[in-house]
Amino acid sequence: MKILYLIKFGEIALKKGNRAFFERKLRDNIVKKLSLSPDSVIMRNGRFYVRVDEKDAEKTETGLSQVFGIVGFSRASEAPKEWDRIQQEALKTVADIRKNHDGKSFKVNSRRTDKSFPKDSFQIASELGGLILDNYTDLKVDVKNPEWSLNVEIREKAFLYGLERKGPGGLPVGTAGKGLLLLSGGIDSPVAGYLMSKRGINLSAVHFHTPPYTSDEALEKVAALCSLLSQWNIGLKLYTVPFTDLQLKINKSVPRDKTTLHTRACMMKTAEYIANKTTNGCLITGESLSQVASQTMQSIHYTNSAVSLPVFRPLIGFDKEDIIAIAHKIESFEISVKPFDDCCALFSPEHPSVRPDLNETIEEFKNIPGILEEIKKCAENSEIRKY
Ligand code: ATP
Ligand code: MG
Repeated sequence: MKILYLIKFGEIALKKGNRAFFERKLRDNIVKKLSLSPDSVIMRNGRFYVRVDEKDAEKTETGLSQVFGIVGFSRASEAPKEWDRIQQEALKTVADIRKNHDGKSFKVNSRRTDKSFPKDSFQIASELGGLILDNYTDLKVDVKNPEWSLNVEIREKAFLYGLERKGPGGLPVGTAGKGLLLLSGGIDSPVAGYLMSKRGINLSAVHFHTPPYTSDEALEKVAALCSLLSQWNIGLKLYTVPFTDLQLKINKSVPRDKTTLHTRACMMKTAEYIANKTTNGCLITGESLSQVASQTMQSIHYTNSAVSLPVFRPLIGFDKEDIIAIAHKIESFEISVKPFDDCCALFSPEHPSVRPDLNETIEEFKNIPGILEEIKKCAENSEIRKY
């Protein structure tokens, strides 16, 4: 048997001129996520309708809850626009709702897009409300604060649905372009990636590793984080960049208190090189203002000056606690807190520079012998994996 889902999308409905583009993207993303044929997702009057086999219900619901742009979805039933059929379907829907919800107060919401239907929305709601009360003596109507609602929409057919599951909100992935996330194995960067993906960015990720100083386990962690992020961002690519020679070069060539800072700048430049080759229009980091020495305003001024692409730092104003709360929500926390060695931590100085002088630091960078060639080499030696 087939079941029908009605899918609501939020903010994209506001995008006047671009609306069709946003809707198409969202439809493509639903099709991809649920592995459906394109014509099984139908759009009408600001809603999507998807029909799937009943055996795929659970997979469908998990899938829809991971497609950005969806604000809510419900299992729906449909009936011809005949009053007795609508009444029958309403009672069936209420019986289904009651299997999952024991709330005693309810409300009927109705919407009539087809104005030729002989009852207006107020009549539809009040008559169906009366019918439900006649059939269930334990229920009562509460229009202000109902525990559940029966929704009826009169469109090309009558659609009825009850309990709604929340979608993840945001904007369809891909509508804001492509971005390259600098992904360590820590707590912050996966959260940054999630948030930008939620704003419509199609993510790729880049990770810098320093074998033999960093372990295979550290790489596996990053792979696990990519696999997690690919739930929202299907087909995510990970570039792993061997960074050992470059880091050793930096450590030999710059003042000890600036090693982390120059390593960061090299990461940004290498990421930009990859981004430009792969048409990623921005870089994304998990930086948060003043969290560590390399994230003070002066440090960020310097690392930012290393690249010309826009750098998005969605966590810049977040406290660690806020970041951790999101990490728990998206289930990256458990992966991130496994012990691992980041290439920066390994060579980090005891007393890093906190307020570097911009021009002086730029000069130091220029004086690292062969640094730009080394960066290019790193980028070109990166390995790609797809999730
Ligand atoms: P995170 O929890 O994301 O590791 P952090 O608080 O440990 O962040 P830093 O180590 O200073 O902060 O890193 C700042 C940002 O630089 C990270 O959020 C990430 O975007 C990037 N970054 C750090 N190390 C790496 C790495 N090995 N590969 C890719 N990006 C990195
Ligand atoms: Mg880190």
